[in-house]
Amino acid sequence: MTILNATQREQLRATLEDRKEVLLQELEAVQHSHLRQAADPDDRVVDDPEEQAERLTGEVLSDAEARRDHDELVLVRAALARMAEGSYGLCIDCGKAIAVPRLLAHPAAARCIACQSQFEK
Ligand SMILES: [Zn+2]
Repeated sequence: MTILNATQREQLRATLEDRKEVLLQELEAVQHSHLRQAADPDDRVVDDPEEQAERLTGEVLSDAEARRDHDELVLVRAALARMAEGSYGLCIDCGKAIAVPRLLAHPAAARCIACQSQFEK
C-alpha cells in the first residue's frame, strides 16, 4: 500500500483550501440572493409567520446546489481538520490508508473504497 508523500499531501491541502474558498463564496452568493428575494418590495406580503417560515425553508431546501455545496464544504473542512491532526489519508471507519489515486481524485474522501460502498448501502 502506497502512502502519500509530502508533495502530494501539500498539493491536496492546497486543493482542499481552494475548494473551501470557492464553496464559501458560492454559499455566500446564494445567501445574498435569498436575502434580496426576501426583501423584494413587489413580493406578496405574507402576514402569517408560519407560512413565511415555510416559504423560506422551501426556498433553501429547493436550492439543491446550495445543499450540495454545503455538504461538500462539511467534507472539505473535515478533511482539513484530519490533515491538521495528522490522520488525513486514513479511513475513518477501518483506519487503513486510503489508496493514493482515490485521494488524488477525491481529496475530501474520508473512507476507503470498501468502507465507502458499505456506508452508501
Ligand atoms: Zn475503510
